[in-house]
Amino acid sequence: MSEKQFAVALDGPSGAGKSTLAKAIAAKLRILYVDTGAIYRSIGCYAFQNGIDGKDAPAVTAALPHIHIEVRYGDDGLQHMILNGTDVTKEIRLPEVSLYASQVSAIPAVRAFLLQMQRDMAAKNSVIMDGRDIGTVVLPDAKVKIYLDASAEVRARRREKELAERGTPKPYEEVLREVNERDWADMHREIAPLRPADDAIMVDTSDVDFEGALSLLLDVIRGRLAD
Ligand code: C5P
Repeated sequence: MSEKQFAVALDGPSGAGKSTLAKAIAAKLRILYVDTGAIYRSIGCYAFQNGIDGKDAPAVTAALPHIHIEVRYGDDGLQHMILNGTDVTKEIRLPEVSLYASQVSAIPAVRAFLLQMQRDMAAKNSVIMDGRDIGTVVLPDAKVKIYLDASAEVRARRREKELAERGTPKPYEEVLREVNERDWADMHREIAPLRPADDAIMVDTSDVDFEGALSLLLDVIRGRLAD
């Protein structure tokens, strides 16, 4: 890693605004945005497509040698996920795949399988990496660690809007239930549970708009980098 290279670890529950904000921050600071959720989603996608129960740890573990995942950055600057040679960037956003991603991510062998890949990306580039365990497990020495949160209700509203825009609308009550279920699973799994790193800066986006959150985070990052 070069002297000037740095990493920003951005953790928090789904819907806190991590990916939208991370993308904008990466563009501003001219660093690489790594969406680690997309990597877990690719494993979930493989299980879904191949009829493997995402909760069946031995079956998912046995499938790992058949899974080849690549992260590619397109001319659009966006992160594309390549699963066994096929671009699954769109498929991994299907609601069914969200559930599979959450299930397979609780399997220790899956996390071990993906750990080095994530660390390698941060070793080669300055990154802002978003996920659940970036500050605690993947990049414990990251120069900047941020834990981004928002109330479950606000996050469910955002998700409801996103689903409607994508043409797959769902009632708010159902979205809220799913948000709460996924949070609970992510926070209570035995391995790499979602929690703030001890040295993470806590930022709540419930009452701020995108521009407000962006300038808040840029201030936090620049402040830490200047230390
Ligand atoms: O961030 P996103 O919602 O796309 O992540 C999908 C799922 O992958 C999450 O529900 C979480 O269970 C899992 N995940 C994880 N560790 C990460 C990133 C995502 O366990 N670093």
